[in-house]
Amino acid sequence: MAEVSQEDVQAALRKVIDPVSGEDIVTNGMISGLVIKDRNIGFVIEIDPADAERMEPLRKAAERAVLALEGVSSVSAILTAHNEAPAERPPQPEPAPRGNSAPETSLLPGVEAIVAVASGKGGVGKSTTAVNIAVALASLGKKVGILDADVYGPSLPRMLGITEKPQPLDDKRIAPMEAWGVKAMSMGFMVPEDTAMVWRGPMVMGALEQMMREVDWGPLDVLIVDMPPGTGDAQLTMAQRVPLAGAVIVSTPQDIALIDTRKGMNMFAKVYVPVLGIVENMSTFVCPRCGERTDIFGHGGAREEASKLACDFLGEIPLDVSIRVTSDAGQPITASEPEGPHAEAYRQIAAALLEKMSGGQSRPAPGIAME
Ligand code: ADP
Repeated sequence: MAEVSQEDVQAALRKVIDPVSGEDIVTNGMISGLVIKDRNIGFVIEIDPADAERMEPLRKAAERAVLALEGVSSVSAILTAHNEAPAERPPQPEPAPRGNSAPETSLLPGVEAIVAVASGKGGVGKSTTAVNIAVALASLGKKVGILDADVYGPSLPRMLGITEKPQPLDDKRIAPMEAWGVKAMSMGFMVPEDTAMVWRGPMVMGALEQMMREVDWGPLDVLIVDMPPGTGDAQLTMAQRVPLAGAVIVSTPQDIALIDTRKGMNMFAKVYVPVLGIVENMSTFVCPRCGERTDIFGHGGAREEASKLACDFLGEIPLDVSIRVTSDAGQPITASEPEGPHAEAYRQIAAALLEKMSGGQSRPAPGIAME
């Protein structure tokens, strides 16, 4: 069955009327961060914080309207209410040193640095890159964890080849899973990949907080967070609530000059999270038969774009079928073919990331009100 399109979802949402303005919720700009992942749909409804309580029926109506579409199996609408637009804040003071008592940092007391891997849109290889960077960091001797924040379409279990479920340690904490030298946690460990997950409002942040606070990550040098694709409000909220040391943006050469990558950078800039660099994925195509290299989507755009945006370029990964096969078989290429050129490319990116991180400090997240 064809995937539901953005237009289908918007058309369904146009039938939902905001009781405050009397307009439909698409026309009056309340909808953002629309994510379509297979048959699962997520979006954000932006409201005035004062209206939070009476907007719950609207949220439910919006979910029902989209759920009624053919081919949709779950819908999650999140109400967000920003107290204050971060972009309008006065310039940030110097980042607070690590170890201060901000509540968000205490979510993960044993973790040195949390790094988000993000992309302006889906399908650019963000999760593949996140997993291989995590494995590469581990191979460089770091203690590494990876947290799947892509709760709408968790792919970590498949990419790491983990089929078991995490076990409780006691009544409060659970042990993370482990594969290829990396600790891992994903909602996908709890439910089969094809199960529609119905995420309601605050549940997304709640689930993420749980995966941070209640998982016994132990001491880690780096926790990689595989962010949901896109730069909508759901992502922005996450970027704000997780105390990130920085972000890595994954882009393909054909998308690099497009607005998506800039949007990704702007999103982190809004919440004062430094972008540690850009990775160009699916760069050169290497023919598996003759080894010839072809720049199908152009090549080197990311390096140029990074310099235009005054951002570091961390490296490039070719479009190679062996990356796809290993990634989809749960054997990340950095671990399964450690001597190969792709593993080396991921290790170089990991090393560049560590280098970049050693020059910066983590910082606590600014607050955001979210219903
Ligand atoms: P995203 O997280 O951005 O949605 P994924 O990491 O799930 O993207 O990748 C989408 C698909 O592309 C997967 O099948 C993955 O194996 C494949 N893929 C990712 N990077 C590469 C690459 N460099 N070469 C070949 N296939 C890739």
